[in-house]
Amino acid sequence: MQDVLLKATIEGGIRMYILSAQNVVEKARVLHNCSSLAISALGRTLMGGLLLAATMKNDEAITIKISGDGPLGDIVVDACGGNVRGYVDNTTIELPLTADGKPAVAEAVGPTNGNITVRRFNKDKQPFTGICNLACGEIAEDITRYLYVSEQTPSSVALGVCIDTDSTVKHAGGFLIQPMPEADENSLIILEENITNFAGINNSLTNGKTLEEIIQTIAGPLKVNLYETIPLQFICQCSHERILDMFSSLGKKELYELSQDANTEVVCHFCNKKYLLSTEELKNLADSL
Ligand code: ZN
Repeated sequence: MQDVLLKATIEGGIRMYILSAQNVVEKARVLHNCSSLAISALGRTLMGGLLLAATMKNDEAITIKISGDGPLGDIVVDACGGNVRGYVDNTTIELPLTADGKPAVAEAVGPTNGNITVRRFNKDKQPFTGICNLACGEIAEDITRYLYVSEQTPSSVALGVCIDTDSTVKHAGGFLIQPMPEADENSLIILEENITNFAGINNSLTNGKTLEEIIQTIAGPLKVNLYETIPLQFICQCSHERILDMFSSLGKKELYELSQDANTEVVCHFCNKKYLLSTEELKNLADSL
């Protein structure tokens, strides 16, 4: 099944974005060689990035950074339209499941002293950066809290990654629901109740529900208007040129020093691709500054 994000409005002035991203999350798992716990945390953040990117124009980008004080380290995700990439510091982390049999994402993230930073790159505007404390380290709740505290937007966010017995990603999905300024009170009450009674995104996808069916379940008696479908992919735009460009910020002296060594190997954090910069390239770069 192709990964997609659907944009919908629900009667009464509510918008809902929902996605299914099994391939995106599985690709991230393979590229980074993630443990089940690491990909649960990274996968949720990748989907959170895609949902936040959906609140912007298709060519505008967003970066999310989750920094807790737990053993997982930082999670960083870039998203733009349907494209996303991301990494997590500790890819091999394993912790016992929580009491209710779920991956211990909150414990791995470490919410006590952590924060979530979101940077929105709007067209023709200065980037907007917001930061707030983590809610609990489960990612969805942290994004909800961020939207409320830093952007004054009440939202409901759900994110779930379901791992198969062979450690591959079986399902991954999530949604973001936000009342628009003109939202009516009755519709919000119906939605709130339906969200409370909702069986969960992992459950619904495991039971073979389509995204359209999940939206309708949450909307209940309210009319749904689907108006956009965005294909999703994990893709990193890194290239030899971009890596060299990054190196130019090191400055002349440091580049000359580096060019004394043998070839310099650089690994892209986001996709693990390796680049080899030759001594001659680095020397030329230093000369050009
Ligand atoms: Zn890359």
